[in-house]
Amino acid sequence: MTILPDLSDLVIEQVSITNEVTVTVRAASPTASCPCCGTISKRVQSRYTRTLRDLPVSGRPVELIVGVRRFFCQQSTCVRKIFAERFPSLALPRVKFTRRLQETLAEMGFALGGEAGARLGKHLSIAGSSDTILRLVKQIPLPAVSSPRIVGIDDWSWKRRLHYGTLICDLERNKPIDVLPDRSVETVSAWFEKHPTVEIVSRDRSSEYAAGISKGAPQALQVADLWHIGKNLAESVETLLARCRAEIRRSLHVQIMPGQEQETWEPVLKGGRRPARSRSVALAREGRRAQKLDRYAQVIELRDQGLRAADIASRVGIGERTVHRWVAHGSFPEARQRRRRPSLIDPYARFVLSWWQEGNRKGSQLYKELTAQGYKGSSKAMYSYLATLRTPQPDAPKSTPLKRRRRESVPSSSAPLENFSGQRATWLFLCQPEKLDQMQQEEVALIRQASPSAETAYGLVQAFMQMIREHTGQPLDTWLSEVETSHLPELESFAKGIQQDKAAVFAGLTLPWSQGPVEGHVNRLKLLKRSMYGRAKLPLLRARVLHVAEKQPARAALLAG
Ligand SMILES: [Zn+2]
Repeated sequence: MTILPDLSDLVIEQVSITNEVTVTVRAASPTASCPCCGTISKRVQSRYTRTLRDLPVSGRPVELIVGVRRFFCQQSTCVRKIFAERFPSLALPRVKFTRRLQETLAEMGFALGGEAGARLGKHLSIAGSSDTILRLVKQIPLPAVSSPRIVGIDDWSWKRRLHYGTLICDLERNKPIDVLPDRSVETVSAWFEKHPTVEIVSRDRSSEYAAGISKGAPQALQVADLWHIGKNLAESVETLLARCRAEIRRSLHVQIMPGQEQETWEPVLKGGRRPARSRSVALAREGRRAQKLDRYAQVIELRDQGLRAADIASRVGIGERTVHRWVAHGSFPEARQRRRRPSLIDPYARFVLSWWQEGNRKGSQLYKELTAQGYKGSSKAMYSYLATLRTPQPDAPKSTPLKRRRRESVPSSSAPLENFSGQRATWLFLCQPEKLDQMQQEEVALIRQASPSAETAYGLVQAFMQMIREHTGQPLDTWLSEVETSHLPELESFAKGIQQDKAAVFAGLTLPWSQGPVEGHVNRLKLLKRSMYGRAKLPLLRARVLHVAEKQPARAALLAG
């Protein structure tokens, strides 16, 4: 980029620099050729000046004053009797911008849209209203769609998930090739009818796209995206594991029954409520509650008698704000039971418990072992944790063996599925077992042991995930029939969906194409759309998406067009 545009055919007559830079130029050649017939003419009919805006120089706007001559066409048969000379390298005819300014404005339009482009332009002393910018963007021809063979199709939300548009990408060239106004069967099939070269279409699990593609491109092989298949499976597993919680609770209950000495649920102590330290603590708590209940009754009674909050407060002997709070509450405000805070000893709870159950009682010894394992907490914290193991629970009879007391005091929320989110359990189920650390493997084992449904599901889920990981569809049929006899409704309904879309799922499991690149382009489309402040109209959005994808500078497009 030079300070001045290409002036090779021109003579600079004068340069004036004030707040603006004004350059006066005229053509160097004494002749000009007629734009109609090409005949060279040297007969000047008249002169005028044309003003062109150019790119700024050091923040100063630049204006070119071009002396233009009108010539007589000397070809007697030419329809043009008179023509004005042109400066093709400098500017297009009848345009008030130099070519390079026009290109810059169009690029700003593609990158930022009209409004933001104009605002930035003002800041950079590049003149051009948002209307001008948008007009320039629309003037640039869109890249032609070469016959695509392998495409990906995905949707994006126009407005608050009420209305969707469609983006189609060429997966071989990794670029968007069209933006459609909606995702209806008609629109999609019409597009494919116009593009008969398509052989393979990658798509999500949407039945609408499936139908549109089948209708418009019956010759094409549809490929269901693996990621979406995996997502569907994860959703089924999450529902299934939620159901397994009930099973696990029942299994917990069974283990409390006398005579059963299995240790399955013992170690899990995280979360849950802080166990009461002793009977006296529990009694004190009861006492405080009774006192509070009594005060509450007084407050309500006095309020009903019409007393002001301040008077109630002084009579009952509590703060005025408490009165307001209680009255606003509408019922007796039970004290919130404090959750047990996570403690540094939590990761070692399992170890401490087994140490305790082996009959060890020497705290100093335990503290040594814990610190050797990396425990960073104080010995005091460790001793108070031990105290919760030592103290009988309020409602547990003294004679009950410790093991059973612990079981009963462990709230049901300590069951592994309750202990971490359904999402986490789902993740553990889908993950490759070798990728899990020992703790995570134990968590999976706990869930599988506790629930027969989870156990059956785990095998099936892993078998499916293995197909995804190994990119094979061979075992799909066997897998589907195994699910049929699994009595797991969640997986059965997932399998039903696969069954209905089997060819595409099989293709997804075996072919290398995926929605990944399409989703990347969808994200960029969303960014562009957002930058247009919700006023994006399809033609402009489409122009911007396809132009940016082409990475073809507006300059080249302008020169070509
Ligand atoms: Zn002519």
